[in-house]
Amino acid sequence: MTAHFIAVIRCNGAEDCGAETHTPFETSRASDVRAFRKQDGWRKRPTGRDICPDCWKAGHR
Ligand SMILES: [Zn+2]
Repeated sequence: MTAHFIAVIRCNGAEDCGAETHTPFETSRASDVRAFRKQDGWRKRPTGRDICPDCWKAGHR
């Protein structure tokens, strides 16, 4: 049995957004997740909320 550590990122922008992404590789390292989020256009607010690219552009920050 193999353990899979796919990091899932869920949007906390608009309440009804529900956008979700995940790393295309297995990782449990926060630095990997940060790098992937940045590359994919996601943002992390100082409050810990993840914002998808669409919400970021729409101003739901
Ligand atoms: Zn969103």
